Amino acid sequence: MFLAKKKKRPVDRHIKNLTNIVGAKSILFHKEDLLSYDCDGFTIHKALPKAVIFPKNTEEVAAAVTYCDTHNIPFLARGAGTGLSGGAIPLNEEVIISLVKMKNLLSVDYENRQAVVQPGYVNLKLTNSISSKGYYYAPDPSSQYVCTIGGNVAENAGGAHCLKYGVTTNHILGLELVLPNGEIVEISEGGVPDMPGYDLLGILTGSEGTLGIVTKITVRILRSPEGKKTVLAYFDRVEDGSHAVSDIISAGIIPAALEMMDQTAIEGVEAGAFPVGHPDDIEALLLIEVDGIIEGIDEQIEQILSVCRNHNVRDVKVARDEEERGRWWANRKTGFGAMGAISPDYLVQDGVIPRSSLPEVLQNIKDISKEYNLRIANIFHAGDGNLHPLILFDSRIEGETEKALQAGTACLKACADVGGSITGEHGVGIEKKEEMRFVFTDDELDAQTAIRDVFNPKDLLNKGKLFPTPSRCMDIKKIIKETAAAH
Ligand SMILES: Cc1cc2nc3c(=O)[nH]c(=O)nc-3n(C[C@H](O)[C@H](O)[C@H](O)COP(=O)(O)OP(=O)(O)OC[C@H]3O[C@@H](n4cnc5c(N)ncnc54)[C@H](O)[C@@H]3O)c2cc1C
Repeated sequence: MFLAKKKKRPVDRHIKNLTNIVGAKSILFHKEDLLSYDCDGFTIHKALPKAVIFPKNTEEVAAAVTYCDTHNIPFLARGAGTGLSGGAIPLNEEVIISLVKMKNLLSVDYENRQAVVQPGYVNLKLTNSISSKGYYYAPDPSSQYVCTIGGNVAENAGGAHCLKYGVTTNHILGLELVLPNGEIVEISEGGVPDMPGYDLLGILTGSEGTLGIVTKITVRILRSPEGKKTVLAYFDRVEDGSHAVSDIISAGIIPAALEMMDQTAIEGVEAGAFPVGHPDDIEALLLIEVDGIIEGIDEQIEQILSVCRNHNVRDVKVARDEEERGRWWANRKTGFGAMGAISPDYLVQDGVIPRSSLPEVLQNIKDISKEYNLRIANIFHAGDGNLHPLILFDSRIEGETEKALQAGTACLKACADVGGSITGEHGVGIEKKEEMRFVFTDDELDAQTAIRDVFNPKDLLNKGKLFPTPSRCMDIKKIIKETAAAH
């Protein structure tokens, strides 16, 4: 039997020098090894990096970055690669600096309610590590069982329970960062909140890996709520579900989570790995969770049930126990992946709208679906108006990828037109660069790129992400052409 030999590329001097920095077991540079790093969760565009390195500590990150800076080699950071807007795609044959070997929980300070983690530490592991002491980490993206806290910081990740507790930026107390010139800096050392001066933590959180590489994070941890109850409500009409969302909030209740799925999304989750038996003929369901001190929870649940009844709910129930609650959440949290059960491909969009515009924008999305002749499922954080239209398409059909991208842009325009935004939590990356123009003027964009230039003056770090460039129209044509060629 003959085994195919690995094709070896001639090893250039940069690869040799990077190998000296991180060690031979912590670098990949053969084409077949690099294939897994040609995209993230935004799979429409692919590009191979020059190499992937896996530093084991901050000093190795700094040495590699210094090397890249000195030799003008583009580079970018990567966590788990679950990003949905292409932020970790190596557009410029970058050296990818993967943080997955820096994956430890460094310390927990229960007295001051803080924990320090390395950037490759997986989000859910933090809650799992501290829950026995009655604490948890609030930001809970649906990808939390695999995505890293470093990636969460870069994307300012949100999650189902961010309605009440806020997104990642509200939970970051300090950062260690390797600047694009290799310098190591500490922002808000020791996790002291409210430091005077500019809010650097605020600028860095959500900067999509364009200002520096995060190598250590101090996060806020919270006391686990004393009690929680979860409600599932089925509506025949999506308008009734939307109005119930607004009325729950205007009743003064801030649920921990207030999620919505429409009929197409329900079809997907019921065909996925965690079906729970939702009816197939309803237009919308709401998953609502209330938490806090036990006293008062029942009263809020009664109010929620009454709002739902006022809006013609077909059926509404409270989870009997933790097992049932867990099943409902597994069904919701695996919702994106479940779309794979009803469509060969799907594109996840991420717009934000004022809650009161929910019925109007959902109708607009229906119209977009008809116009482009593509099914669109909606599964989203209704309480904070963060929509996730999932555009279902088949990349094997000529022109359909292009149509899906255009339908995605139309959904984002519909959000921007009602005073909303083009991203709630998934970031801009390469996917929504041009759509930044829906919400910012040229002057505002210039002001933001001026900030990037202060941190990243040579633009070697994650080049070509986040901000539109005049040549973006060309970029998109290139993407579509390449996609068509790949099939
Ligand atoms: C099924 C699914 C469900 C999802 N659900 C949610 C959700 O509910 N809420 C939500 O907000 N997101 C969600 N996401 C998107 C994604 O999981 C988040 O954006 C997450 O924060 C990305 O983390 P990551 O470790 O995978 O980062 P990556 O994808 O590896 O990187 C994302 C960006 O961060 C940068 N980066 C990574 N690490 C660092 C670092 N240490 N320093 C500087 N920059 C860095 C990268 O350069 C890139 O630009 C979901 C994704 C999937 C696939």
